Amino acid sequence: MVALEKISLQGFKSFKRQVSIPFPPGFSLITGPNGCGKSNICDAITFVIGKASSRVLRAKKAQDLIFHGGKNKPGSDFARVCLYFDNSNNELPFKEKTVTISRRLNKKGVSTYRLNGKIVTRQQILDALVQVGIHPNGHNIIHQGDVNQIIEMDPVERREIIDEISGILEYNEKKEKAMQDLKKIEERVREAELILQEKQTIVEKLKQERDTALRYKQLSSDLEKIRKSILWKEYHKSEKNIEEINKKLEEKTKEMQEVEAKIKEYDKKIAEEEKRLEDLTSKILKTSAQVKVAEKIASLKSELEIKKEKIEYNRREIDRLNLMIEKLGSLDAKASPAVKAVLGMDGVEGMVGDLITVPAEYRIAVEIAASGHLTDIVVDKASNAIKCIKYLKQNKIGRVRFLPLDKIKPPPKKPLPSGAIGWLSELIHHEPKYTPAIDYIFSTTAAVKDIDRAKAIFEKQRARLVTLEGDLIDPSGVITGGFYKKPASYNVKKYIEEKKRIEKETEKLEEEIAAITKELEIFSSKEKPTKTINIERERAKSDESLKRMKEERKEFYERLLVLQQETGKLSIQKARFEARFDDLRIQWERSKEGKETNPEELKPFIDFETPTLKNKERETILEIESLGPVNMKAIEDFEEIKTEFENFREKVDKIVEEKNSIEDTIRDIEEKRIEVFMHTLNEISKHFREVYKGLTGGEARLSLEVPNDLESGLVIQVQPEGKKLLHIDSMSGGEKTLTAFAFLFAIQRYKPSPFYLLDEADAALDKVNTKRVAELIKRHSKFAQFIVISHNDALIREADRVYGISMEDGESKIIAIELPKNQENN
Ligand code: ATP
Ligand code: MG
Repeated sequence: MVALEKISLQGFKSFKRQVSIPFPPGFSLITGPNGCGKSNICDAITFVIGKASSRVLRAKKAQDLIFHGGKNKPGSDFARVCLYFDNSNNELPFKEKTVTISRRLNKKGVSTYRLNGKIVTRQQILDALVQVGIHPNGHNIIHQGDVNQIIEMDPVERREIIDEISGILEYNEKKEKAMQDLKKIEERVREAELILQEKQTIVEKLKQERDTALRYKQLSSDLEKIRKSILWKEYHKSEKNIEEINKKLEEKTKEMQEVEAKIKEYDKKIAEEEKRLEDLTSKILKTSAQVKVAEKIASLKSELEIKKEKIEYNRREIDRLNLMIEKLGSLDAKASPAVKAVLGMDGVEGMVGDLITVPAEYRIAVEIAASGHLTDIVVDKASNAIKCIKYLKQNKIGRVRFLPLDKIKPPPKKPLPSGAIGWLSELIHHEPKYTPAIDYIFSTTAAVKDIDRAKAIFEKQRARLVTLEGDLIDPSGVITGGFYKKPASYNVKKYIEEKKRIEKETEKLEEEIAAITKELEIFSSKEKPTKTINIERERAKSDESLKRMKEERKEFYERLLVLQQETGKLSIQKARFEARFDDLRIQWERSKEGKETNPEELKPFIDFETPTLKNKERETILEIESLGPVNMKAIEDFEEIKTEFENFREKVDKIVEEKNSIEDTIRDIEEKRIEVFMHTLNEISKHFREVYKGLTGGEARLSLEVPNDLESGLVIQVQPEGKKLLHIDSMSGGEKTLTAFAFLFAIQRYKPSPFYLLDEADAALDKVNTKRVAELIKRHSKFAQFIVISHNDALIREADRVYGISMEDGESKIIAIELPKNQENN
């Protein structure tokens, strides 16, 4: 082990001339009278390698350390102390076997440090020495009066001694750095989590909006399917209804034909019988003078009866026609309640269908080409359309398409495809002011004679083409066509014309009846014919049979009337179904929007009955309304924001991971720190107990104020033999010194210093205890070098070497009392 071989002083405090004091291994003792300069030797060592404080060196300023002269002696110009260390084991990182470390201080207060003769800094010296366990705060140098310091110091300061010995300062530094890193990263985590929270709120809100949008999408699609299903069912039901009615009509027509045939038969028979009756009558009349008159009367009567019958028939027919006209007339009004509601409002010009006049040959083409636009409403300006829309909304009446004349922009004019009759807009008559609306609907559809021609034209030029029979080719190539049933309105006209004709005929018949009645009156006033009995009898029989036949004919006739009425009713029903069918067909075509709809696509709704579907339709609309405003963009936005959020969360997770890793590191450091500290404390405590026991026979131990709390203080507990556990304050000076020695040696055993310097540390001890301490030092001097300053005989006796110091003329002198063989003295 490195040892302090020698010390040489010059101009330092009371040492004027250069003196060297060799310290061979073992126990060296320095003694001498008060004030001779013993402690100055201790100061000299501290001057080079110890604490730089003036308190320790007992000087106000650095210059006070230079010999200031005696009565007849001048002072020195500088102070120089050189320490010689034995480095035969090369424990110090230098090749020299003796390493010299010196400090020179001049009068200006400037210090020069040298290591092996080379100028170095104080720090370089401290760095070299720390490797062999010598450092300025070491407890190997106990200055005069400082021995009890270790006992009296603050427990936390005392614990710091263990900190230093255990080497946990290194861990403290690491921990401190890690704590700083932790603080920084915690700040980052906090900031990131705040942002994360904000982002989460946004994501959650957007998610709600997205869910609503998805629900809206689903509901809208359901609603479309429900409506198409309803339409599909109604459309097919309507088709079936027409078939049934046709069947019934066919039956009735057949029966009517049979009845009519019967009536014809009766008419023939009646005519024959009348002829016979006429013959018989004429036979009878020929016998009388007034044959001619009687003949005339009979003929007039017969004519009268026929005409009356015809009138009755006409009246019933008029009644029937009136009924038909009334029913069909009501069907003609295709306008929806919403359309009816806006007609007559400000700026409303009317329904497109009402504003145009179409030549008969183009009617079908126009109806088909209009595809529902005939019920569009033409308004003067958009603002009035908006008023109407608000009115419809407020009153929940329905929807209407408006064509505002000030805003509507007809598509640009194109040349007419060759072979076409003309653009529909040019074939329709209307007031010029409606041109924008009419052009909007009809200017892009050309009328064509028939489907073959339409096809040929379409091959050459793609355009919207409609045939006079109602087939439609779309520019996309979609063709719609088949048999087109004229709407009911045309039948009404037919019925009205028929009714007018019958009324006119009836009027004429009534006039004729009046004339015949008058003529009959004139003839009746004339004389009656005389009768021939046999002929009379035959005539009566014929008359009878005629009457019966007429009776029977009447029955058939009445049946015919009933049948006519029933047929009429069925026709009305049929017309109604047909109108509905047309309406549904147009709606169905429109709902398909050019593409074919497969009923499979309408599942599961297509499987429900219509009333259930209507309920579902209502419920779906209610739910859509209950969704409120829907942000459809949320579907896309949500995905985007969510990905962004997830990315950010990953980043935050990484920071948190980093934080956790720092915390782990801190924990590891702390564990290691505790382990190292506790190991050191336990070892030193063990030694402390042993040394104290050896010194005093009592018990002692070291412990932390708070168990396992490395920040708490280190408590010393002692119980001198036969005494109670003592508190520091209640210890005697000697007891304190003994305890301090036990502590010092406990440290020495755990982590020995190369040398120990004790300046009158035994001052407070009695003889017995001084002896014990002397023995203790003697024992330990086998393992470390001890330099002890003392006046005590017990110690002087135990020492390997003794130096006596004296003072002469203000200058300290050294006398070796027991000199080693190769001793060097100045
Ligand atoms: P004690 O037994 O009382 O502790 P000691 O031997 O330890 O005494 P020191 O404290 O070493 O005595 O020496 C003190 C003496 O050193 C004083 O008498 C003082 O005059 C002298 N001294 C201190 N500084 C200087 C100096 N700069 N120049 C000359 N003499 C000095
Ligand atoms: Mg002294």
